[in-house]
Amino acid sequence: MSERIDEAATLSRRDWLQRVAVPAVAAVGLAACSDSRRYVVDRRTPGGATRHFVPVQATKERLIRSYAGLRPYRAAGFRLEAERLDGKQLIHNYGHGGGGMTLSWGTANLAVDLMQGNAPARSVAVVGAGVVGLSTAVLLLRQGFDVTIYAAKMPPHTTSNASAATFFPSHVIAEDQVTAAFEQQLEVAVRTSFHAYQRLAGDRYGVRWVDAFYLSDGKPSDGKPSVETRVSDLVANSPMHDLARGDTPFDAPKVRQARDLLIEPPIYLRALVDDVRSAGGRFVIRRLEAVRDLAQLPHATVFNCTGLGARTLVKDAGVLPARGQIAVIQPDAGVDYTLYHGDFGYMMPRKDGILLGGTFDVGVDTTTPDPAIEARLLAAHAKVFDAMK
Ligand SMILES: Cc1cc2nc3c(=O)[nH]c(=O)nc-3n(C[C@H](O)[C@H](O)[C@H](O)COP(=O)(O)OP(=O)(O)OC[C@H]3O[C@@H](n4cnc5c(N)ncnc54)[C@H](O)[C@@H]3O)c2cc1C
Repeated sequence: MSERIDEAATLSRRDWLQRVAVPAVAAVGLAACSDSRRYVVDRRTPGGATRHFVPVQATKERLIRSYAGLRPYRAAGFRLEAERLDGKQLIHNYGHGGGGMTLSWGTANLAVDLMQGNAPARSVAVVGAGVVGLSTAVLLLRQGFDVTIYAAKMPPHTTSNASAATFFPSHVIAEDQVTAAFEQQLEVAVRTSFHAYQRLAGDRYGVRWVDAFYLSDGKPSDGKPSVETRVSDLVANSPMHDLARGDTPFDAPKVRQARDLLIEPPIYLRALVDDVRSAGGRFVIRRLEAVRDLAQLPHATVFNCTGLGARTLVKDAGVLPARGQIAVIQPDAGVDYTLYHGDFGYMMPRKDGILLGGTFDVGVDTTTPDPAIEARLLAAHAKVFDAMK
């Protein structure tokens, strides 16, 4: 299986995705990297094999856009809970932080189970058309329910579209709020989602496996892995391999290799919308202003999948925006790996561009890209790629 705690002598693979601060890096020149092919011994293959490496050109000239999204972060973890509301059943499924893409199928499944214990009527409402609402709707439609989705915004205008997105439930709960029950629920959700996503691999859903490389200074990590890392290591069968220094083109004391399950949100969410429509689901573009609007919906069961919107809709002050900014440079089909480095640096290659992240700023609620962060992201990545040998 995956890496074990005895490997915590160096920073655990998935802890990269839990780190929040982008390292302060000195400005580096914007000289383009050479386009030459790079090689590394692939330790997953007995006897070793070689693979190509195309360096990423993290330059302003290659930049095609910058954007920011607001993760629905809840320090207490996502809310999965059923309650009665004026004779109807209201089921909450929101607050997935930096892990909503990953957790979508899992928490949707758990939310639908909450309803089934209560002899539901056939007509249900789902509020929200991000990844959580759409997955919930798909599961309900598969079970023969009559589903109407109410949403203020549709893809591509959701937070889910702003996601990076790799299969890892990053920043889902504050570690000091983790209970045994939550950890168990998280594990069930990650396991369910992992099985769902691996079956969706292919062009239609924009889901694929890629090699992932993790650069570190090799110093011992402080403390035990986060709950997100513990659970993922149990569930996702993606063991880490240490690579010998000379075997990689990266200039880092320690390089590790694993596999990433990568999801391309623009493709994936479009496919989910199509799936909902073709299964008979209906979309109503409407912002619900308050709980009374939920109570007035003409359905016996209502799923609240509003993400950050739950903050005002059901007055949950525990949901906070956790802003993430990404710089996107021109796509390059030759770049076929993900890279993690520094405190929270990541590179993810997609059809619509190469994503350079990332940031995680709790309480910042603007989606306007910050030019200073853009420059920092480009510089941090240029430093890594320019140093490739
Ligand atoms: C930069 C960035 C990188 C990320 N990377 C990853 C990653 O690698 N892996 C991962 O798993 N996750 C990642 N995430 C997190 C992930 O994107 C979120 O957790 C997820 O998108 C939340 O989905 P959601 O459906 O709950 O919310 P949203 O996508 O925000 O959808 C909410 C829906 O509810 C609707 N709504 C809200 N309020 C109302 C209302 N009052 N009335 C009607 N409709 C309403 C909205 O219009 C929308 O349709 C990332 C996020 C960001 C920003």
